Amino acid sequence: MSDIAIEARDWLAANWPGSHTARAWRELVVDEGWAALRWPVAYHGRALSDDDAKRVEAVFADAGAPGPGQDRTNLWAGTLVSSGSDELKRRFLRPLLLDDVAMCLLYSEPGAGSDLAGLRTTAVRDGDEWVVNGQKVWTSGGKDADYGMLIARTDWDVPKHRGITFFWFPMRQPGVEVRPLRQMTGDSRFNEVFLTDARVPDSHRLGEQGGGWWVLQTALAYERAVMGMSGSRPAAAAATTAEPEGATARAHGRIPMPDLSLVDVARAAGRDHDPVVRQRLARLHTLRKVNGWNGARASAATATGGSSPLHSLGKLAMSGILHSAGRLHGHLLGLEGGLDGDSSAAARDANYSQLNAYFTSIGGGTDQIQRNIIGERILGLPREPEVDRDVPFRDVPASPVRR
Ligand SMILES: Cc1cc2nc3c(=O)[nH]c(=O)nc-3n(C[C@H](O)[C@H](O)[C@H](O)COP(=O)(O)OP(=O)(O)OC[C@H]3O[C@@H](n4cnc5c(N)ncnc54)[C@H](O)[C@@H]3O)c2cc1C
Repeated sequence: MSDIAIEARDWLAANWPGSHTARAWRELVVDEGWAALRWPVAYHGRALSDDDAKRVEAVFADAGAPGPGQDRTNLWAGTLVSSGSDELKRRFLRPLLLDDVAMCLLYSEPGAGSDLAGLRTTAVRDGDEWVVNGQKVWTSGGKDADYGMLIARTDWDVPKHRGITFFWFPMRQPGVEVRPLRQMTGDSRFNEVFLTDARVPDSHRLGEQGGGWWVLQTALAYERAVMGMSGSRPAAAAATTAEPEGATARAHGRIPMPDLSLVDVARAAGRDHDPVVRQRLARLHTLRKVNGWNGARASAATATGGSSPLHSLGKLAMSGILHSAGRLHGHLLGLEGGLDGDSSAAARDANYSQLNAYFTSIGGGTDQIQRNIIGERILGLPREPEVDRDVPFRDVPASPVRR
């Protein structure tokens, strides 16, 4: 065992489980530097190499102690670490690691989803602030968010990727109107966000003015990494709560990963001896295992920062896994799967997982977009033609949605 793994083991022996509340445990883990092992000490980490970090994570996992891993999964804090100013880091990192700040992603617009660089929400400089006007859509968690990671156009005279700036945007202000949208799962987790003369200080800019596209790549890599590993969207400190994942999952519009739990469903339905069912269960289990290894490979590739197209492989695979799991879940229930609401909890869960699988195949970039990335950046296929790539954005025709 390495020195750091021994230190972690001894620390856990002295502290875990103890009589901590979930909150007290989370604070202890963050303040002792165990939550984000690869980050510098000044940012609540321990500056460990990826190999050492994995050793410590394994020690925590063996002890059943939650906590480490936020350097891989906390999209908000990770983006701040890689691109935020010292002031923003000082102010927000600890609250983010403790899940004390509610965040959302202000990227997609009615005319800009897959082609995010075509966004038209505009930020105009006014002294030490920027004035923001436009509309965002599909904003998960927007209703309760304190801050949003916003991309806005700050220069219309350069090609589309170069005129975008990235902001840490305060949501609780008069120029922000959030309207919830109802999803086919019945949840209302995402929203439309209307921005009218809303303000954000220049000190809340991440990266250079006009350099938002490159900050976005890091943020998207985090998002895809988390969705590829867990099938759910990043929640700030899910990895540090001392409650089991399943206890809060449903309340957040997520359900626990349906793979091995489907073995129980198969047993309950008397289908666990059916060879086809067994084959489908084994296939799901295998895919998850392989995807876990791919996730480890992707985190190793990005251990020192940056993004990797490997995350697209993981996210695409997870999308396939969730759709297969949802279909198998429904299949196992047979006719009962047609019920919903309070008439059958089992059918409700199966229907939810089938519908919710689209979350992963659309949110964070669609399956088709992940395939494009894999084709171009992993397989080395020719780039998709882009007629507007080098044209000043002012001269690019607006999508019909925005006309
Ligand atoms: C559950 C959920 C949560 C979300 N949360 C957020 C959020 O918090 N914040 C946020 O900003 N956005 C969020 N989104 C939006 C999401 O990122 C977009 O829906 C997604 O990027 C697709 O954009 P679009 O809906 O505009 O579809 P479009 O871009 O219009 O795509 C329509 C179809 O065309 C295909 N397509 C488009 N371009 C290409 C291409 N070049 N090659 C091949 N096929 C292509 C797409 O794959 C898709 O099938 C969320 C979406 C979902 C479903």
